[in-house]
Amino acid sequence: MTDPITLAGEIASSTAASHAPEVDSASRYPAETLDAIRSSGLLGLISSPEVGGQGRGHAEAAGVVERIARECGSSAMITCMHYAATVVIEQCGDEATRRAIAEGRHLTTLAFSEAGSRSHFWAPLGTATPEGDQIRLDARKSWVTAARQVDSYVWSSKPTAGEAPSTLWLVPRETAGLECQGEFDAIGLRGNGSVPVHADGARIPASNRLGEDGAGMDLMLGTVLPMFNLCISAVNLGLMEGAVQKTIEHVSGKRYEHLGTSLAELPTIRAYVARMRIATDQARLLVEDTGAALAAGRPDAVLRVLESKAAVGETATQVLDLAMRVCGGMAFRKEVGVERRFRDGRAGTVMAPTTDQLYDFIGKALCGLDLF
Ligand SMILES: Cc1cc2nc3c(=O)[nH]c(=O)nc-3n(C[C@H](O)[C@H](O)[C@H](O)COP(=O)(O)OP(=O)(O)OC[C@H]3O[C@@H](n4cnc5c(N)ncnc54)[C@H](O)[C@@H]3O)c2cc1C
Repeated sequence: MTDPITLAGEIASSTAASHAPEVDSASRYPAETLDAIRSSGLLGLISSPEVGGQGRGHAEAAGVVERIARECGSSAMITCMHYAATVVIEQCGDEATRRAIAEGRHLTTLAFSEAGSRSHFWAPLGTATPEGDQIRLDARKSWVTAARQVDSYVWSSKPTAGEAPSTLWLVPRETAGLECQGEFDAIGLRGNGSVPVHADGARIPASNRLGEDGAGMDLMLGTVLPMFNLCISAVNLGLMEGAVQKTIEHVSGKRYEHLGTSLAELPTIRAYVARMRIATDQARLLVEDTGAALAAGRPDAVLRVLESKAAVGETATQVLDLAMRVCGGMAFRKEVGVERRFRDGRAGTVMAPTTDQLYDFIGKALCGLDLF
């Protein structure tokens, strides 16, 4: 059996690379790449072997996402959100859904962000009201990746009772009372279809609760955040790797005919390429060390989880900016392939927890203060 990261690399080069430019320009769901991921078994990567999954961990999930992101940021982001939602379904969900994910029949995502609490995803304002053996959901979710294509949402609300900040639910996409709003028309990740979803009296079985009532915050921070932060860091790492490759191809191939030299023969250009490579390798070491810290249950794992998203997100904006500079005027045009990655790389720093929130959390942790 091919190892999952090699398999993801094959899907990236055989399918994602050819469709990504059109996915970006049409701002459409990357169906071909997600179908390939689905049929390869990679949707079940982190599902337990008990339900037919591969039983892999954080590091392998990050490796898969990174390989896909080298060619298609949107496909990688959808896969990242699938793993971030799957990790909590694996822990608290019903067996039928877990088995469907493991078998590649079920794509899922996170519906945390809300119009009212914005990037403060830990503070949902949407409500969950018990009605017999059902729960009525009302909310204004502001960003839900692949909202129209997934099979379910891992959904946050206020608890049904008590003062805790949140409760999580598994919400089937086709639940009556849910409505996806508008189209996703954005600077980057244009195929990720992250649109608002409104719930107006949407009813789900009370048994769809994930974890205890009021335990949402613990699940968000203890279960979802490690997978999400590591995988979104991997999206950014893959975008950097793709851009470094495209930049080297461009500067090696383009020539000043009147001088008989290539762009790579300019020392300034070579120095920028070196800086891009060094920064990307530093980011890779942090991603790999975070995966290792999580796998070993190291005491510094939480700090690494916070650091990796902040550091890799910021590094990506710098490396992708350098790619635009080094490839010159040509970089403004689509055919070089760096401008799409440059645009896609803008999301990593503003997706919650944003870089600035992470700086605050890390500073508080280092100074012995409570995070919230
Ligand atoms: C491409 C994309 C896909 C997404 N997909 C999903 C998804 O699938 N599911 C989901 O739930 N959400 C998703 N999101 C939403 C995302 O996680 C954030 O909630 C959203 O980007 C926040 O945007 P905002 O304008 O509301 O931020 P605001 O809250 O308005 O933030 C504005 C600025 O204030 C800063 N700021 C806010 N609070 C603090 C603080 N305490 N300390 C320091 N600075 C602070 C922020 O860093 C930011 O710079 C997605 C976002 C993007 C861009």
